[in-house]
Amino acid sequence: MDSIAEIIESSKRITALTGAGVSTNAGIPDFRGEGGLYSSGKYDPDKVFDIDYFVRDPAPFYQFARDFLALLKKAEPTRAHLFLAELERQGRLKTVITQNIDGLHKRAGSKNVIELHGSFEESHCMSCGKEYSVEELERMIPERCGCGGIVKPDIVFFGEPVKCFNEARVAVESSDLLLVLGSSLAVAPASMLPYHCRGRIIIVNKGPVFAVTGGAVVVNEDLDSFLRSLPL
Ligand SMILES: [Zn+2]
Repeated sequence: MDSIAEIIESSKRITALTGAGVSTNAGIPDFRGEGGLYSSGKYDPDKVFDIDYFVRDPAPFYQFARDFLALLKKAEPTRAHLFLAELERQGRLKTVITQNIDGLHKRAGSKNVIELHGSFEESHCMSCGKEYSVEELERMIPERCGCGGIVKPDIVFFGEPVKCFNEARVAVESSDLLLVLGSSLAVAPASMLPYHCRGRIIIVNKGPVFAVTGGAVVVNEDLDSFLRSLPL
């Protein structure tokens, strides 16, 4: 544990890559985990996040979105979110790259955040391009713009490319430490990012990790307990 703390302490250009595991302690279940979207049976994930289905019928997605936004209102940033925001304030962490759509890194105070899968912060009409805030989105029933177009939150659906991947790759390439927190590295292309790292890699995830590069330190532990045990 000392050596992990030492690696973090001695690093000056840290990039973090985070997944669902940083937010489960905030009460937001991993979509793929226990109690998550894919196992709850309440939603059909093939319909909820499929862009072609969404364009034909946005109702299943909106049912999910209302529940998710209600969950987000109650959620507070976790120790892991706050830890990364603090590292950035100290000038040692340059970029947070996240696969999450909950916006909790920004709420924790992180400034330079790349949200690969977007967020609910803004939505746009798919026909006229009009922008809607998350508050406006919450009030929208039915889910139509004044022009009749479908309003789509700026999150990435299946069948759409992730956002800012090149920016994320450059951040990883230029870092001396990549901290992978709460991600099993199962979902491409985020799972490819560690292969671009020329510095040290520390992966903390409760459960299996699927894309481990040689030399990475892997810690299979709950993230917040791990951070509590760090002598930092
Ligand atoms: Zn419109």
